[in-house]
Amino acid sequence: MASSTSQPQVITCKAAVAWGAGEAMVIEEVEVSPPQPMEIRVKVVATALCRSDFNAWLSQATPHLFPRIFGHEASGIVESVGEGVTEFTKGDHVLTLFTGECMSCKQCTSEKGNICQVLGLERKGVMHSDQKTRFSVRGKPVYHYCAVSSFSEYTVVHSGCAVKVDPKAPLEKICLLSCGVAAGLGAAWKVADISKGSTVVIFGLGTLGLSVAQGAKIRGASRIVGVETNSEKSVKAKAFGVTDFINPNDHDEPIQQVVKRITNGGADYSFECVGETAVISTALQSCCDGWGLTVTLGVPKSNPEVKAHFSTFLSGKTLKGSMLGGWKPKSDIPSLIEMYLNQEIQVDEYISHNMPLEDINQAFDLMKDGKCLRCVIHMPK
Ligand SMILES: [Zn+2]
Ligand SMILES: [Zn+2]
Repeated sequence: MASSTSQPQVITCKAAVAWGAGEAMVIEEVEVSPPQPMEIRVKVVATALCRSDFNAWLSQATPHLFPRIFGHEASGIVESVGEGVTEFTKGDHVLTLFTGECMSCKQCTSEKGNICQVLGLERKGVMHSDQKTRFSVRGKPVYHYCAVSSFSEYTVVHSGCAVKVDPKAPLEKICLLSCGVAAGLGAAWKVADISKGSTVVIFGLGTLGLSVAQGAKIRGASRIVGVETNSEKSVKAKAFGVTDFINPNDHDEPIQQVVKRITNGGADYSFECVGETAVISTALQSCCDGWGLTVTLGVPKSNPEVKAHFSTFLSGKTLKGSMLGGWKPKSDIPSLIEMYLNQEIQVDEYISHNMPLEDINQAFDLMKDGKCLRCVIHMPK
């Protein structure tokens, strides 16, 4: 029915393409296919660099997934919609979602879960629907990352992997609510459900850990202990509510003993935000007996198995995992945007650097050197 000119066409635009693990990204002209059924094509406005982009880029485990476009913490404007999409129209402001919500599977229809069985984490570098890519460079397919790939001026995502947001919210700030900041706040509020007056210990004070700290502070935690090997982070940590900053390098005794001493036998809640399974064990040991709860948010690069003595659990401790802070992304993220607009939560304060797409390798260098919180990459207008 529709003439070919009214259908979305292939777009040629700039994207940061990673040609190999750990290799500097190259700004290339890429071709972005029109959105397929139930997909949308998004003009990316801003995208932050998250630790998981960095780790996946460095990882030697997936050489077959290059060339690849990373980026998953993003905001943008819908440019075109594929067949069957009724939820979005051109011009809508959206956040991308690295883990989607189909609204109809067992997880999506349960109050309890947020790991969508249809649009959950995509690890093969292709679109959920047809296992193909929507990008190419000089005729060569370019793989996606986490079904988002936002280090590109345009990207195609499944309509279940985006959420419409209030156009009043500044896209260059709220991109942080599509992953890091939302994940930390949700871990504190939804997964741990921190109660007033409790004691909290957070391992790793990057954006994730400092978002847990903000969540704990808002809930009225009496003591928020931050454990971090980079002492430069102590000033920011205090600003987000950390009351006691501990650098493990300054202590001879195991860090769980230090925590136990200052929290009268262990914290009520501990959070692993480093991405090391050994730290999960330490976090468990830093919790109190009876009700101590450890939440693990980090994504380990190596040694994936968690070690814990059975007596840890016999003494009443709990270990819980957390994906995106337990939020159902489409259903819950708009309420975080509302809180941001009402100045009930801080987001801008996590942005340490802003840069254009051309300087993206600088953002990776800053992350490697531990010199940033969030670097926001701005696309050309
Ligand atoms: Zn992320
Ligand atoms: Zn689902």
